[in-house]
Amino acid sequence: MDIKKDIKSLSLSELKAEMELIGEKAFRAKQLYEWMHVKLARDYDEMTNISNNLKQKIKDKYEYTSLKKLMVQTSKIDGTKKYLFELSDGNLVESVWMKYHHGNSVCISSQVGCRMGCRFCASTLDGLERGLLPSEMLDQIYAISRDTGERVSNVVVMGTGEPLDNYDNLLKFIYMLTDENGLNISQRNITVSTCGIVENMKRLADEQLQITLALSLHGSTQEKRQELMPIARKYSINEVVDACRYYFEKTGRRITFEYSLVGGINDTDEDADNLCQLIGGLNCHINLIPVNPIKEREYVESEKKDIQNFKNKLEKKHINVTIRREMGRDIDGACGQLRRRIGGQK
Ligand code: SAH
Repeated sequence: MDIKKDIKSLSLSELKAEMELIGEKAFRAKQLYEWMHVKLARDYDEMTNISNNLKQKIKDKYEYTSLKKLMVQTSKIDGTKKYLFELSDGNLVESVWMKYHHGNSVCISSQVGCRMGCRFCASTLDGLERGLLPSEMLDQIYAISRDTGERVSNVVVMGTGEPLDNYDNLLKFIYMLTDENGLNISQRNITVSTCGIVENMKRLADEQLQITLALSLHGSTQEKRQELMPIARKYSINEVVDACRYYFEKTGRRITFEYSLVGGINDTDEDADNLCQLIGGLNCHINLIPVNPIKEREYVESEKKDIQNFKNKLEKKHINVTIRREMGRDIDGACGQLRRRIGGQK
């Protein structure tokens, strides 16, 4: 038996070619694409202007990716919603919906699990299962948009998984998400966060997109970084920062550095000084994230005064810095916590 193609991962031009292949008119592709990527249809049956005959023909040939909402937790503190979805093969992924003054933001997962091994992160504890298809990344946004009834304006790829370890699917996802025939989200409203896979950071730079690249730094020297992030043994801190400079040169987009503050590990004056030296002269913004402790590890959050002191030190050197507002602390906000908790029960 032929493996059915995943229709929601096809670009409009690929879909046109498919329609031709099965003897249908090209305008059908436009109709189908609109049902999937603008009207966000849950299944083929919602497509009212497609005849039953054609629906059947398409059903026989193509898989329709539609994530199943298993659970939603809504934060009582800030209204953040954490979703747990089931994929067609039974795997689970989480996504988060956040309301900000400037619009609604969705944080999506790019893989089932992760193989990067960052010490403080819950997503990586069981390793990598597989990368997500473009349709599975898109449908996290579509399903949330359907559920909330609101438009999504910003997308951050900061959930479970390493997006640059699923490069081709990620790129296709970005092109489809920003396609004027689909949701048409502005490239400037998309952020991709990476632990620093250098060759793919450069490939992404060469695409010259207007998306924001966020680099998870978490340490200001090679030694400290590799204690928290095993990937740092493969790519040195200097190579990674050089790749950020390259990204900026190619795209003109300011880099975001994420720095999770771990009490007594990377939050001292010396760490702040080293950080200023490391990124000096680079057009960037630093996001300080108080580490969200997971029960499997002994790491603790930095004290409030140390966080403030760290921020002041960077500001003195005229570095743009913000402390990330903690959203959804009461709903397993940290990457991978909900999936692990529920997945373990299944
Ligand atoms: N793999 C990508 C994206 C996923 S993680 C990356 O490494 O960037 C998104 C961000 O959350 C990363 O900066 C990651 O290091 C951070 N993070 C993961 N677990 C965390 C925790 N328990 N507390 C604080 N930050 C965490």
